Amino acid sequence: MTTTTDERPVAVVSGGSRGLGFALVKDLLDRGYRVATFSRSESDGLAALRKSAGDATLTWCALDGSDPAAVQEFARDVVRAHRRIDVLVNNAGVGLEGLLTLTAPAAVENALHTNLTLPVLLTRACLKPMLARRHGVVVNISSINALRGQTGVAVYSAAKSALDGFTRSLAKEVGPAGVRVVSVAPGYFESEMTSGMSGDQLRRVVRRTPLARLGTVEDVLGLVGFLISPAAGFITGQIIAVDGGYTC
Ligand code: NAP
Repeated sequence: MTTTTDERPVAVVSGGSRGLGFALVKDLLDRGYRVATFSRSESDGLAALRKSAGDATLTWCALDGSDPAAVQEFARDVVRAHRRIDVLVNNAGVGLEGLLTLTAPAAVENALHTNLTLPVLLTRACLKPMLARRHGVVVNISSINALRGQTGVAVYSAAKSALDGFTRSLAKEVGPAGVRVVSVAPGYFESEMTSGMSGDQLRRVVRRTPLARLGTVEDVLGLVGFLISPAAGFITGQIIAVDGGYTC
């Protein structure tokens, strides 16, 4: 990354290689942001996007979010290169499904770390330039599993609920300094994370959804786009579901 006098806003997105994260990267580029993202591996789609966007506009780093020092270093590099961070989307996450008694402790640790510790540490590392400029929005990608209990996802639910607690308290802490913090809680949408769900499971979700369909990545993009816009300038500390009414 090179130092720049570019005045375009800067967004950091964790987990930009595929799924919602990749869609967020593309959407933020379309909105005129420079974007910095990371994941453990790069997808062909992201590699092609980087090639067409160029290094000054889109950077990707191979990084395992379980390494706190690497997360800190990533954020430091972004700030060194761009001198600002306007938006942080804590998107990287990992699903974990299974009865608790049958879940290995290492899987519990990994789910808690990726879904909770990583966003907390990444936010900590990205906040300084936001506070210094009295401007910024942190969007935490939560889940309807944080809002409603469900068999087989206790650890995932615990991590996402804790992330929502982080949203509420941090919003109070940094609101006076001009930084907003929100959670977006999507219902089920198609991605690698939900590719293991059976047809029966997906049909059950649709039956319980007033708008009678699964979510899409576009549904989530629309909400995130609104929340980072000036139109949402008086919204902070809220957990906003985009779930077709599943949790209403
Ligand atoms: P996905 O397709 O599995 O993508 C997850 C992204 O996170 C990938 O880019 C992955 O890249 C990255 N990632 C995972 N672990 C990482 C780690 N340890 N270090 C760095 N990067 C890591 O997931 P998705 O469905 O798009 O989900 C995105 C977010 O939405 C997650 O927070 C998820 O909990 C939430 N959500 C999803 C749904 C749904 O129905 N899909 C519903 C509600 C909420 P690498 O594997 O290459 O590292």
